[in-house]
Amino acid sequence: MPTAFRARRIITLAGERAAVSPGELDASLRSVDNAVLLEKDGVILGVEEYAVFRRRLSGAFSLHDLGPVCLAPALINAHCHLELSHLAGKTRLGEGFVPWLASLMPLARTVPGEEEAVSAALRCLKDSGVGHCADVESRLPGLICELALREWQGNAVYPFTHFLELIGFSPPPAAEGEDVEEALRAGDWFSPAAASLPVPASEHCALSGHALYSTAPEALQAAHAWCRRRGRVFSLHLAESPEEDECLRSGSGALRDLLRGFQPSPFPEWKGGPVDRAEHLGLLDAFTLAVHCVRLTPRDRRTLAERKSAVCLCPRSNAAIGVGRAKAREAAASGILLCLGTDGLCSTPDLDMQNEMAAARDMYSLSARAVLRLASINGAAALRLESLGSLEKGKAAVFSMLREEFARELFYSDSG
Ligand SMILES: [Zn+2]
Repeated sequence: MPTAFRARRIITLAGERAAVSPGELDASLRSVDNAVLLEKDGVILGVEEYAVFRRRLSGAFSLHDLGPVCLAPALINAHCHLELSHLAGKTRLGEGFVPWLASLMPLARTVPGEEEAVSAALRCLKDSGVGHCADVESRLPGLICELALREWQGNAVYPFTHFLELIGFSPPPAAEGEDVEEALRAGDWFSPAAASLPVPASEHCALSGHALYSTAPEALQAAHAWCRRRGRVFSLHLAESPEEDECLRSGSGALRDLLRGFQPSPFPEWKGGPVDRAEHLGLLDAFTLAVHCVRLTPRDRRTLAERKSAVCLCPRSNAAIGVGRAKAREAAASGILLCLGTDGLCSTPDLDMQNEMAAARDMYSLSARAVLRLASINGAAALRLESLGSLEKGKAAVFSMLREEFARELFYSDSG
């Protein structure tokens, strides 16, 4: 039997593609007032005015009147670290990247009670309208999968991309051209838990490299190739801090000092910035999601746009750590596909995606419409989630409920 969800307004973004220019980001929103979203078996049959729906539909259906609310496509959190949820309030913030990382490193391990912290974090994500979360994981993918399936029970689509993270400089996971999967299963690079994720999570796994300064280049290349072969997204932290630049350029500095025992010696110098380095390694293409990109030169922006790599912005995390603010407007004007992520509780106050959207609007001076698109249709495009991003016939029946104040702002310039 079909189910009809009735709401005061439904923003559909129907027929839209990812917005990759300021004009596309700010365009008027397609929406239907006093509307219903009709779905069957998790698939949207249509979105239309309630009056039209009543006249047209014969036969049984179940009606859920959600009241005077504004529905929008499911929100997509494109970067998170749920397994660091127990570090909320325990890391050094506001002093820059290296003090933060130094405070995090000894704490990023299994501790009693972390399941509760992950559960609470998942609930916050879900309550804020997140229908899909791209989560970077190395220790707890099995647990996160289990808890996510419980929290999003009955969801029309699997709610996670599990980015299994490669970190370290031990020999690369496989010889060139070989499959990383064997090494993954052998547990050299991932915990055994990561290699035995239950279905359907295993179909929703991708690989991420931690960063250029913390993961062997051969491993990054192998992981990128593994993802590309399977049509999956490869992710890495990129251009987040000045210390990252310094470490790559000179093989010295505070980040190098912190990671001296972990990195190879000497650390190979690279006469360019992180984006140049990623480009040189062949890591930038339409399968790559670069996270943070706080420090992009005009040339970096051109490179990312030309390569059609997506960029995930994490404004509150960058502000909390004290690494500065991404130039989101310039990135949008360059034609980069931008999306939005909360990052983990080790660097952000909560995983509420609507709080992240409000912060992105304020910190980047973007319109409410632009950040809604970053957090929905663009996130879906960046993560290659074809059934999400808009509410229209044939897409998954997964939606978010926007908070009143934000919803009003989306239509403010239309009425006034
Ligand atoms: Zn991160």
